[in-house]
Amino acid sequence: MDKAGHEVEAVAWAASGGTGFDCLIVGAGFAGSVLAERLARGLGQRVLVVERRAHVGGNAYDCHDAAGVLVHPYGPHVFHTNSAEIFGYLSQFTAWRPYQHRVLASVEGQLLPVPVNLDTVNRLYGMQLDAEGMKRWIASVAEPCERVRTAEDVVVSGMGRDLYNKFFRGYTRKQWGMDPCELDASVTARVPLRTNRDDRYFTDTFQAMPVHGYTRMFQKMLDHPNIKLMLNTDYREIVQLVPWRHMVYTGPIDAFFDHRHGHLPYRSLRFEHVTLPQAQVQPVGTVNYPNDYGYTRSTEFKHLTGQVHHCTSLVYEYPCADGDPYYPVPREENAALYRRYQADAALLDNVTFVGRLATYRYYNMDQVVGQALAAFQRLRQRQAAGASD
Ligand code: FAD
Ligand code: UDP
Repeated sequence: MDKAGHEVEAVAWAASGGTGFDCLIVGAGFAGSVLAERLARGLGQRVLVVERRAHVGGNAYDCHDAAGVLVHPYGPHVFHTNSAEIFGYLSQFTAWRPYQHRVLASVEGQLLPVPVNLDTVNRLYGMQLDAEGMKRWIASVAEPCERVRTAEDVVVSGMGRDLYNKFFRGYTRKQWGMDPCELDASVTARVPLRTNRDDRYFTDTFQAMPVHGYTRMFQKMLDHPNIKLMLNTDYREIVQLVPWRHMVYTGPIDAFFDHRHGHLPYRSLRFEHVTLPQAQVQPVGTVNYPNDYGYTRSTEFKHLTGQVHHCTSLVYEYPCADGDPYYPVPREENAALYRRYQADAALLDNVTFVGRLATYRYYNMDQVVGQALAAFQRLRQRQAAGASD
């Protein structure tokens, strides 16, 4: 349907209720879809979800490629959380396939486990340390600093400069386009050091992939008579046309305010998808390339999805400055700029900002779900307070 058709349809739908929409939700990713589901199913609100892209799911969207392999067009998404509440909430909309993600880094001609663990160190340096030996060795190479401030400090103070140079410096420079000493400690703190042989990328209590993919899960969340979905539509095209009482905005916060304080930096990626006529290429889901090539990592989707297929599909991630905003860039000057937008946002009583782009936070999927569920509780209390006035 063309845009004019969409607009007419939305207006007609709104008008048919007489009072328009209770909530206009911008973006059908995790933040927008969780709130749409909760407001419609939990509070009986009439919700309009407007999504610029041609599909739901935001960056977690998945689909079958031309060969029939289930892929993640916007990069690999592995679900993991320690929250039973968040896992339980999503489990209403999908069954799960248990999956523990494993990552190897290509360093000096070897594929070595990341996060750095006992095997990484023994194989890299030709040693035969046990866990106690590794602790002593790490203590001898680590370079403690008084105040761990940057992404470099975290690694160098935790495991020394040689491991930093081999596993973190090049990768981070590629990924973020700047040196680790210019980024917040939180960036590299995502990847721990292990003195045991645990080679899982994550150690969360719940680690699993939606059995039929993320998109099917989103479709189920949004499948409710009170939820109206408009794809291929920027909210600005309809925001004046459709009557609504409250807005949930999950796009970039600086764009909402027409960049009035300047552009917030987001890091982008170019994805190169490849399909090969063989069942498997990599020994594990993801291989990192800290020191070679323009891409940071390659991911072979069948490891994640468990799909059986005679072909296999991989994605190579090339970080870049321009393109869709994927990563907020964690550094103090950006946080300061975000706080100016946050102050503007706080003045808007009828708009709630939720999600990775709208709150400028380097959040994983589960954290965005948690943030959206918390926002729902606040909206619910507001509605209850309004009703009792
Ligand atoms: P998004 O998914 O970005 O959704 C926002 C939506 O709003 C988008 O669909 C966008 O099109 C829409 N939108 C924006 N502006 C407008 C507008 N003006 N009008 C209409 N629509 C608009 N997390 C994990 O937990 N595990 C992982 O393995 C993992 N891997 C990742 C890999 C990559 C390459 C990236 C980039 C992220 C990864 N993440 C991962 C993080 C995860 O993608 C996010 O936490 C999550 O998808 C954020 O959801 P969101 O709803 O906040 O934002
Ligand atoms: N990182 C690194 N080398 C690695 C893996 C990660 O230097 O082999 C750094 C890099 O700065 C990266 C950050 O740690 O951006 C967080 O890694 P993670 O795998 O969590 O990144 P994401 O999956 O969010 O892109």
